[in-house]
Amino acid sequence: MSKALEQELQREVDKRRTFAIISHPDAGKTTLTEKLLLFGGAIRLAGSVKARKASKHATSDWMEIEKQRGISVTSSVMQFDYNGHRINILDTPGHQDFSEDTYRTLTAADSAVMLIDVAKGVEAQTIKLFQVCAQRGIPIFTFINKLDREGRSPFELMEQIEQVLGIRSVPMNWPIGSGRELCGVYDRMNNQVELFQGDDHTHIQVKKVEDYQDPVIREMAGDYLHDQLCQDLELLDVAGDPFDFEKVKRGELTPVFFGSAVNNFGVQTFLESFLKLAPKPEPRRSTAGDVEPTNEKFTGYVFKIQANMNPAHRDRIAFLRIVSGKFERGMSVKHVRVGKDIKLSQPQQFLAQDRDIVSEAYPGDIIGLFDPGIFRIGDSLSQGSEVVFDELPTFSPEIFAKVTVKNALKHKQYQKGIEQLTEEGTIQVFTTVGFEDTILGVVGQLQFEVFEYRMKGEYGVDVQLQRMPYQFARWIVGDKIDPSKFRINSTLVKDKKGNYVVLFENEYAMRTAMDKNPDAKFLEVAP
Ligand code: GDP
Repeated sequence: MSKALEQELQREVDKRRTFAIISHPDAGKTTLTEKLLLFGGAIRLAGSVKARKASKHATSDWMEIEKQRGISVTSSVMQFDYNGHRINILDTPGHQDFSEDTYRTLTAADSAVMLIDVAKGVEAQTIKLFQVCAQRGIPIFTFINKLDREGRSPFELMEQIEQVLGIRSVPMNWPIGSGRELCGVYDRMNNQVELFQGDDHTHIQVKKVEDYQDPVIREMAGDYLHDQLCQDLELLDVAGDPFDFEKVKRGELTPVFFGSAVNNFGVQTFLESFLKLAPKPEPRRSTAGDVEPTNEKFTGYVFKIQANMNPAHRDRIAFLRIVSGKFERGMSVKHVRVGKDIKLSQPQQFLAQDRDIVSEAYPGDIIGLFDPGIFRIGDSLSQGSEVVFDELPTFSPEIFAKVTVKNALKHKQYQKGIEQLTEEGTIQVFTTVGFEDTILGVVGQLQFEVFEYRMKGEYGVDVQLQRMPYQFARWIVGDKIDPSKFRINSTLVKDKKGNYVVLFENEYAMRTAMDKNPDAKFLEVAP
């Protein structure tokens, strides 16, 4: 490799941070994202930050459903520069009707920011998203938001994070007072106090102090709040976990920051600490061993495919996470699954209104590739050798519906639609054993709506979906599979490849079936 390219790659990789914000709806993700982008002066907005609030900013024209419901159906990417860093924020749909896209997007992130509402604590969707991040072992940073409101005590939140999520936490700063009494935060890492001023200014007042016992804090906060602060921090010094960078890197300890996104309070300090601690793009596992980001050969994988971002064009966009090398517009790479070279001539980053053509990109960046139907989720692209990344797990569906076509004459288009949408990873398809009914499985209700909408819009087929009472799917592997054993609150189906899958109505039915079939293995994902 040329020395110049080597240095260029190293420099670009070192400055990149690619992360996702995970949270439950309403915790303040849009607000936090907007503040972060403001610090950096966003260079490329992928639209969704604004687009999600369709009532406020009707800029999105991606899909009718998005407009109707004011949410982002599909996740996208925002990029900005700050203090010499190039930051990519992957947006994960915040609505509770999230989908597999949300999970998959997390595989493209190198770290995650977990946003928690100080009053609500850890909520349902945060748990799910956290688990996906925890499985990958990526570092997770916590921002406790809405400190200007009355909420739970910081100790209570730390305990909940440990009990519900199973991760220890280390507070990087600590509130001085809370809600209406909020005076500011004490920054434990930098020994300084940030004063809360309660409206949106970017210049926060920061005071350097000796330590938390410094009388300067007493002058500012009063006896009561200062006593409280000293008491809390003494306890933390003695009983809390020390900051351990190695544990943070392995995702075993989460640094916690307190702040208020809407007031822009604590956001900048958070961003700066995050940039110091969060990992740059790391090597990724592949069939050819770990691929270093600074490897001169370009590689990447498709983690998401989105249809009809622009309704005027019937195209699809494949989102590619760059793993190694340098992307240059017009370059030729191998599409490993297909075994053909393809030219990457039209890669783009996205805005709500127009598309921005990218001519260079580096590991950690996400590019959108125009897709005339050649990509599938999980496809790897590589220059030179045949590298395949195994980053994309399939997820066990949790919601099921029987699908029928309203007009039998449309059966062919219906088949084609099902075929293509399963390939994209929009839905999983099962067939009942005996009756040959078609059952769709998804992880979020919204996927059904997208399915219906796209069947009509793209294939001209009206479908009818009938919700089924099942909640769990398990692939069963064993010698003798007897359908009669799976009748009580469950049903036996086959997936597209002919593997046996049992759908269960509840956990009890699943446990019973496991007990009754000790020789069979029950897998959460396809074997
Ligand atoms: P999302 O659904 O997670 O994207 O949440 P939003 O960013 O849309 O925020 C949800 C609501 O919480 C909005 O009304 C915000 O103005 C409000 N909000 C966000 N951050 C704060 C904060 O720090 N304090 C208070 N009091 N409200 C906030």
